[in-house]
Formats: sequence, structure tokens, C-alpha cells
Amino acid sequence: MSNNIDNSKLIDGKKIAAEIKSEIAAEIKLLEGEGKRSPHLAAILVGEDGASKTYVASKEKASKEVGFTSSVYRYPENISEQELLDAVNFLNNDPEIDGFIIQLPLPKHISESKIIEAVSPSKDVDGFNPVNVGKMILGFSTFLPATPFGIQMLLERSNVETAGKHCVVLGRSNIVGTPIANMLSRNASNANCTVTLCHSKTENLAEITRQADIIIVAIGKPFFLKADMVKEGATVIDVGIHRIEDKNSEKGYRIVGDVDFDNVAPKCSHITPVPGGVGPMTIVSLLSNTLKAYHENNK
Ligand code: NAP
Repeated sequence: MSNNIDNSKLIDGKKIAAEIKSEIAAEIKLLEGEGKRSPHLAAILVGEDGASKTYVASKEKASKEVGFTSSVYRYPENISEQELLDAVNFLNNDPEIDGFIIQLPLPKHISESKIIEAVSPSKDVDGFNPVNVGKMILGFSTFLPATPFGIQMLLERSNVETAGKHCVVLGRSNIVGTPIANMLSRNASNANCTVTLCHSKTENLAEITRQADIIIVAIGKPFFLKADMVKEGATVIDVGIHRIEDKNSEKGYRIVGDVDFDNVAPKCSHITPVPGGVGPMTIVSLLSNTLKAYHENNK
């Protein structure tokens, strides 16, 4: 990220995530004061993938920071699909567990969709189960998928007007592009956008992005969104995360997004940096969903 960017444009995901975490922590303190148990978030981790281990560890750490209890159920790479289904069922039926996630990706011999479908919708805090996806599409109360939920909170807490605005979403994945396009097009608060959902077959992409008041980029290509694709005053949300070589950095690499930040930022009214934009919000959304599951399952 360049140092020449006007800080008032930056949507500070780290700061907003910290605010939400402290709100959750305050609520947990109140529950404890009433003698109630804390919410419990569990994770299923299969195999030894380094990135998956890191994600699960950061979810555990964030849970502890807000006063949740948490647990990780670790299984070897060669676990059978049936054994994993049994593990999911065990967590579905454990009354002490309010919500759990399956860390993806799973090994190739296991059907991810079968496992996701087996998670009880009332504990599916990732919001991936088809029942919860259906509820999201219909605008019913449900667990919203973590990254889109985080984006919506970022827009809300940065006072970015969405109603009546043209939002262009780049990328139609099931975990980011498709759900955020749906969420922002709903007749609801922090929504009511006119949404255009673009993908790799979209023609004249730059013409479309130049019409956008809000651009959400989730395509997985470093520096893809260039300044000439953005109109003056637009809000740009960068979901991409890439590690690229950087000989000037001590680590030998740096983290960048899907947006050519240094050239795009001067044209924007608001923009998320990478790192420190959307990323920190994803885990916070998971915590919010777990608190919701706790309240709903303990009515
Ligand atoms: P994905 O599954 O990798 O899908 C990429 C999408 O981009 C597809 O819909 C694809 O279109 C579209 N696309 C690819 N090239 C394109 C082009 N030239 N023009 C227009 N559209 C194009 O996406 P994802 O899982 O949402 O991930 C996207 C990025 O976000 C990755 O960098 C990922 O690491 C990051 N991510 C970050 C977070 C976070 O917490 N910050 C969370 C999730 C993902 P088709 O459908 O036509 O193939």
C-alpha cells in the first residue's frame, strides 16, 4: 500500500473488527455476570494443510479474545467420508456446541457438498448449508456467509450509502460474489443496491465497472481492477488476498489484493486496503453468527 493515500478514504477493517469484537466481549461479560455459560465455537480440521491450520488457529484465538470457549476436532487426511459424517453428526447433537465450521478445502476423496449438507442448519455458523443459503436468498433471518456479512458491516460502519446505488460485483463464487450480490440487492437496510454480477464471461467489463458507485472485487487476480475501470468517487471493496514476491520486504513477500490500490485509491471516496480491510471482518462475522446461534439455541 502506498503511503500517499488520504487516510480518510480508507475503510479500516482492523479497527471496525476490533470494535465489533469488543461489543461481543461486553455481551459475553454480561452473560457471565448472569451465571450463564459462554458460547462455544468448534472447528473440524482435516489433514495438515498449513493455510487451513493457520485459519483455524486464528478463529480459535479470536473466540478466546471475546470470551467464547472453542475446540478443534482434528482428523487425519485419510479419514473416510462416513467417519467425517459421523463427526459432524456428533457435533450436531452436542448441546454444549452452539456452532461449528468445517475448514475447507477437504481432501479430494470427500464430497464437500455432502459434508456441508450434513451440518445442522441451526449450528451452521459459516452459512454454507443449502437451507441457510435459501433463507439468505429469501431474506429470512439466518447465518450470513462470513465474508459477505463482513463486507456489509464494513459498508454500514463506514457510512457508505447503499440504497439506490449501482453496485458491481466482480466474481460469482458461492462464498463471496454470489451471496454479496444477493444480500446487497435485497429490500433491506444496508442494501437496496442495483446489482450487476460479473464473471469471466462478462463482455465490456470496464464499461460496466465505470458505471458503479460501489465495486466489490472478488476474482482472485492480483491488481486486476485498474484506475481506468473506476469512476471518480466510487467505493471499492477488495476481497482478494495474494502473497507476491517483494525483495524489499524482510519476509521476501507482501500481501496484495485484486485491486491496483495505489492507482485506484486516489479516485475513490472509500477503499479497503489489503491487508487490513475485508480480511479481519471475516472472522468477526463468524463470531457474530456464533453468538446468534447461542441465543437461538438457548431460547
Ligand atoms: P473464486 O472461487 O476463485 O472465483 C473467482 C471468480 O472470479 C469466478 O466467478 C470467475 O468467473 C471470476 N473471474 C475470474 N477471472 C475473471 C475476469 N478476468 N473477469 C471477471 N471475472 C473473473 O473466488 P473467491 O473464492 O470468491 O475468491 C476471490 C479472491 O478473494 C481470492 O483472492 C481469495 O483468496 C479471496 N478471498 C478472501 C477472503 C477474505 O476473507 N478476505 C475470503 C474469501 C476469498 P467464472 O465463474 O466465470 O469462472
